[in-house]
Amino acid sequence: MVRDKKNKVEIKKDAFADPMKIINEITPHLNLEYTKVIQTYVIENKDLELVLKQEGAPDLRGKLVWLGKRKDGKEGTVLCIKVNSEIQKLNPTPENIEKVFLDLKKERILLHTESKAKCAVCEKKIEIYDEVKSCPICGARAHKDHFLEWIRMKANCPVCKKALNISSAGKILVV
Ligand SMILES: [Zn+2]
Ligand SMILES: [Zn+2]
Repeated sequence: MVRDKKNKVEIKKDAFADPMKIINEITPHLNLEYTKVIQTYVIENKDLELVLKQEGAPDLRGKLVWLGKRKDGKEGTVLCIKVNSEIQKLNPTPENIEKVFLDLKKERILLHTESKAKCAVCEKKIEIYDEVKSCPICGARAHKDHFLEWIRMKANCPVCKKALNISSAGKILVV
């Protein structure tokens, strides 16, 4: 984590692979209390605001209620936020987010999705709600279904053209 003068710290993108890592990144800065229910961390003592910044869309603001592991066993986190009185779930992963900051003064998490992030296959924008896969060699990102279908057809990465394969568990492998 890198601390700047404005009481903002950057949370590593990699932390979004696992909710415990996010908790470990936040806790040293804010006195966070939470209850762990199986793989879900319910925030107890704070109104931690979450602001999702997406290009071309208004900011989404809500109160972080809990964060947890994905139920399908895949890498990534579920953030449950309360927007007005509605519950919304976000699925940030290291692949679909760009930068994340913790604002210590305002007790707020700022989640930036990458404005430049486009699917390497269909060239449409990658949204935080999208399932994304990345090339283990060059890091190129694409919608999960598009990337897997591409590899099935061409057995390579659409960007770096290195040979790739898919494991039986659906992981992208370097050949
Ligand atoms: Zn796509
Ligand atoms: Zn590649």
